Amino acid sequence: MPSEFDIIRRYFTRPVKRALLGVGDDCALIASEPGTALAVSTDMLVEGRHFLAGTDATQLGHKALAVNLSDLAAMGAAPRYATLALALPQADEAWLAQFTQGFFRLADAFGVELIGGDTTRGPRNISITVIGAVPPDLALRRDGAKIGDDVWLSGCTGDAALGLAHLNARVRLSDAALAHCLARLHAPVPCVALGLALRGLATSAIDVSDGLVADLGHIGERSGVALELRYADVPRSRALAACADERLAQDCLLAGGDDYELAFTANPDSRARVAAVAADLGLALTRIGSVSAGEAGLVSVYDAAGMSMQIASRGYDHFDQEAVSGQLKQPPT
Ligand code: ADP
Ligand code: MG
Repeated sequence: MPSEFDIIRRYFTRPVKRALLGVGDDCALIASEPGTALAVSTDMLVEGRHFLAGTDATQLGHKALAVNLSDLAAMGAAPRYATLALALPQADEAWLAQFTQGFFRLADAFGVELIGGDTTRGPRNISITVIGAVPPDLALRRDGAKIGDDVWLSGCTGDAALGLAHLNARVRLSDAALAHCLARLHAPVPCVALGLALRGLATSAIDVSDGLVADLGHIGERSGVALELRYADVPRSRALAACADERLAQDCLLAGGDDYELAFTANPDSRARVAAVAADLGLALTRIGSVSAGEAGLVSVYDAAGMSMQIASRGYDHFDQEAVSGQLKQPPT
């Protein structure tokens, strides 16, 4: 059985290039970058809550880092460093080898250095902190949406939740749709390049993790504005468009969560620039609504006829016992 220190040396110690000092001392040392602020964010994945026991460790290593990088993307920050706090029921080297493979593959793709962490025995729990860099005036905050702005969405929402619905036997997807949805669920790709491209262009941004309506509500609350969403304009993937259960499709689209797309607001004068970013990055960016005066944080959804819609499920809240969608990775017990 390897010791804690064997594990750290074997699996988590890699040479650093950007950091002044990486794993192995009491602290890591990172140099400050003139003209930039450090963007710092932590996300925790708990077994039984965010993932099921027995989940593929490579996918878990990827996803745990991906959801953190998504927060940097939503801030317009360039990824730099990560720390990893890991609780494991036992020193399972096969699990560690797979986990670190998934983690470092994504870290290398985005130029992130692992500079420290903590390793302890306990119920499986993965907590990652990421550090990025952004000029403070260009950070994409939640509180900058202005009345009259457009609301935009990258890619489309709902696929991860639809894949989960299949796993929970609420729907039966075709093989192709299932493969697509499970890739979205297990291996999300953070929108880092988009976040960087939106600096100075988006007035506010958020990554969609709890559900589209819930996360737009967070922009509304922080910005002191209301948002109006045009349901017919919310884009659907082919998998979701093929879903015959419209109630489920709506749930997935508006409240499924685990999407890691970016929702953002921008002045209507910026439409051509947003379109240019979409073309540049080869991404779909869709205008799905607008910012209005009204109760801060209120998100109203309108159908194609302009009628207000009642939305059954609005997103995931870890302490809301009624919530059954979103990040809950297993059927409620
Ligand atoms: P301390 O007792 O000072 O907390 P530790 O013995 O926990 O130090 O860790 C030794 C070194 O290994 C530290 O530099 C720490 O940041 C690093 N480390 C521990 N666990 C991890 C991990 N899971 N990933 C990356 N670095 C780690
Ligand atoms: Mg420690």
